[in-house]
This record gives sequence, structure tokens and C-alpha cells, in this order.
Amino acid sequence: MARIAVGGMQHETNTFMPTLTDYAYFCTHRDRPPLVRGADVTEWLDGGSFGLSGFLAEMADRHDLVPMVWAGGGAGGMVTDDAFERIAGELIAALSQAMPVDAVYLDQHGAMVTAGYQDADGELLRRVRACVGPDVPIVASLDYHANISPEMVAHADALIAYRTYPHVDRRETGARAAAAIELMLERGRPAGRAFRSLGFVVPSHQQPTGMEPTKSFVDACIDGEAGDVFNLSYLGGFRLSDIHHCGVSVVASAWTQVAADAAVDAVAEKILRREAEFDEPMLMPDDCAREAMSIAAKSSKPVLICDPQDNPGGGGSGDTTGMLAALVRNGAEDAVVGTMHDADAAVAAHAAGIGAELTLDIGGKADLPDNEPFHGQFTVLALGDGRMRTTGPVVGGRDIDIGATALLGIGGVKVLVTEKRVQAYDQSLFRHVGVEPKDQKILGLKSAVHFRGDFGPLAEKVLVIKAPGGCPADPRDLPYKNLKLGTRLGPKGPPFLPNR
Ligand SMILES: [Zn+2]
Repeated sequence: MARIAVGGMQHETNTFMPTLTDYAYFCTHRDRPPLVRGADVTEWLDGGSFGLSGFLAEMADRHDLVPMVWAGGGAGGMVTDDAFERIAGELIAALSQAMPVDAVYLDQHGAMVTAGYQDADGELLRRVRACVGPDVPIVASLDYHANISPEMVAHADALIAYRTYPHVDRRETGARAAAAIELMLERGRPAGRAFRSLGFVVPSHQQPTGMEPTKSFVDACIDGEAGDVFNLSYLGGFRLSDIHHCGVSVVASAWTQVAADAAVDAVAEKILRREAEFDEPMLMPDDCAREAMSIAAKSSKPVLICDPQDNPGGGGSGDTTGMLAALVRNGAEDAVVGTMHDADAAVAAHAAGIGAELTLDIGGKADLPDNEPFHGQFTVLALGDGRMRTTGPVVGGRDIDIGATALLGIGGVKVLVTEKRVQAYDQSLFRHVGVEPKDQKILGLKSAVHFRGDFGPLAEKVLVIKAPGGCPADPRDLPYKNLKLGTRLGPKGPPFLPNR
């Protein structure tokens, strides 16, 4: 029986958002647990849909696990140095107390940026390595959207990424991290680790792992885990972190350096050969609304419109109004838009009660270009307290608290407003206010890809709308400053040059 310290600090940082992610945000129970420590880590994460949940399922009966700190900040603007130092400091203090340990497992995202650290995940791993010394294996599980740095590779023995987007294999990834640690407990730290940056960034909506070319890259990683190679991970990267090490990459761990290098080179060659194949067209808002209405008129199944540029899962504000306005303006019927983050509107609807008529300015409150509130007269159709258990394949089984919710109607369009920001990734959000998703004509969802997990099977067709928001899909629309010189802005896109 080994003694293994476990914990994690996760954030996907959209450095283009004006809002900051502070310590209080990490501590709030939202669509994921609040910051937890010690025994509360297992209390909240056991049986859940996180990497650490899968790790616990594999290892809790076999080893002496020492829970440290787990903090899931979701996605949003820059993490404050205060939040990073407090959480990282607490984690290192807990690790110091737990010493000596035989291994460390961290459940990270891999795209955390603070004012002080472009590569905050690398800094966290550096501190963990400094604490445990050169002999103790460190394994981290990462989101598929991690941006990998040489520092992360240097300090961790394996960086094991989700293989699915929508992310339906978080638990399995934790189990793969557990298997890697079991190997290292037998054989020691591996001699080989390799990393290749592919030199370009990709919009999220072009990255689902069920679509080509990504599917082949992930399959190649699965096939490549053989012989001396025990981890081979493809990472789509997170283009909304404006940092030096941003973009698509491949990482491997193996018992020899030769095997690790050969494994990443084989996948990297395949990616570069197929770089031009990333594709998923976007429609301008009015065209998208009319196309959805036209398809919906002939179908018994809903048409899904995804709004990737206002994806809360990419750090978006979840309150932009382009999709709602286009549907109302074009006279859509039986259409539901969600989730619209607007605490004021949700609270006002609760105060007014079901059946009330309210004149409201919905959304449009985040300080973003072209983001205006939607002004109109709404009927309060349903209310909820925002506490529910999720049911879908992406985040299922979570007890979430998204604050006051309200379903508001205007013409043939309904909008689900929420007090706390949440991505439209689970049908439970809609059922909570009495909307059965499969019975709608049009569902407008604030999500880039995760909606495909739970809503995809219902759909007649998925359309991608190009409405303004905090997650511009086209990298050429982003005011980058810190990318590595020459990074291609999109697959086969123009190179990043400073002061362009
Ligand atoms: Zn992700």
C-alpha cells in the first residue's frame, strides 16, 4: 500500500475577458463544488464526474490517499495572484504535512493564467516537485483544452489528457492517471518524456473528437500507447489564453526517451499533414435564425443553434444577446434560448411571480464590444431555485446550484435566465423550469461543443451562430500580444506577428 497525495487546482483562463477570477469565486458552490480541503475533498468528489473522482474509484481501496485541496474555478477571466497564491500555498502546505509520500496526483485543467504566471499550471507543478524532491512520481490529469509548456513536462512524469470533447471521459482520465501511478510505484519515474507544440491554435467549435480530423489524432494516440509508451495525449489547446505556450500539442511519457520522441513525432506529423481539414462553418445571426426556422418547419426534432462565441465554458459572460435578438426579430416559434446569465432579471422575475408581465433589459451587461441588453416585454412562465442534479453524459451526477432561475417568454421565444453563470450543457437545466428539450422546435444553446453530449442525440441539425461574445471563434479576431512569434492564427492561418 502506497501513500499518495491527491488534489487539484483547475482553471481555464480566457485572458481576453475583462473580469477577474478571485478567491471567492473558487470558494463558491456553482455548477461544480466549492474549494474543498482534507476529508471534504473525497466527500465532494467521490462518485462525481471529475478526474479525481475516477482516481478515487480506482485507488481509494488500494492505497493510503491523502487529500490536500481541490479547487475548480471553471472558465473565466484572469485568475488573481491572490487566489493562486492562497490555493497553491494551501496545497503545498498540505503536501508538506503529508510527507513522506510515494506519489502525487493532481487533477488540473492546464490553461490557468494569473497576472504573475502565464503558465500557472507549470508553476504549481514546479512547487510540487520542489516539495517532494526528485524521486517521487507526479502525475497530472488535464483537460483536452490544456496548453502545454516545457515546464509542465519537466516537473510532471505524465500529463494525461481527456480524449473526448464533449468531455465524457473525465473519470476515465483519472483512472488512466491511477494506472500510470501504479506503473511508477513498481518501476520508478520514467526516463522518457516528450512534447511537441504544433504551432497553431484552433477554434473550440472545430475541435469535437467525434469529427475529423481530430478523431484520427485521438485514435493515433490510443494506438500509440504500446510497448514502452504508457501515455500519449493529444491536446486541442485553449486559444483564449494569450500566452507564449498556446495551441495544439502532443505529449508522451515512456520508459525510454527514444520511445517518447518517436510517439509524439508520429502523431505530430499526422496533425501537420491534416491541418487544413479543421472546419465547421458559422452563420451570421439572421441567416442562422432563418435557416433554423426553415429546417424546424419540416422536422419533428429540434434544430440546435450553438453560440460558441458566448460559451461560459470558454470563459464567456453567458449574457450576450445576439442569438436571442435574431430569433425574436425573425419571428421564431417554439424556440428556447438558454442559459442567459442575468442575476437582476432572474431576481426581478421571482419578485414579480409566475404570470407577471415585465419590461426588462435582459443580458448585455458584460463589458464587451457589441454587447447590448435585449429590451422587451416578457411574461414570467416558470421559476426555479437553481438547485438540481445534472443527468447528462458530460457533467452528469453533479448537485449544482445556479441560483434563481426564470423562464421568460417574448413572442414565440422563451429564454432561460440564471442568477449564476453556467454553460448549457445538460438537459436538467431546462427541465428544471418545465421545458422538455426534445419537444422544442429550436434550442439556442450557449455552449461551443459540450452541448453535443446531452442534446446532440435529440437534434435534427446543429447550426453554429456567429453572434458577438467574449470567446471570438476566429483567432484572427483576437488581439493577441503574447503568442509565440509565428503561431498560426487558426489551422493554416496567418502567422502571429507582434504589433500587427
Ligand atoms: Zn475543455
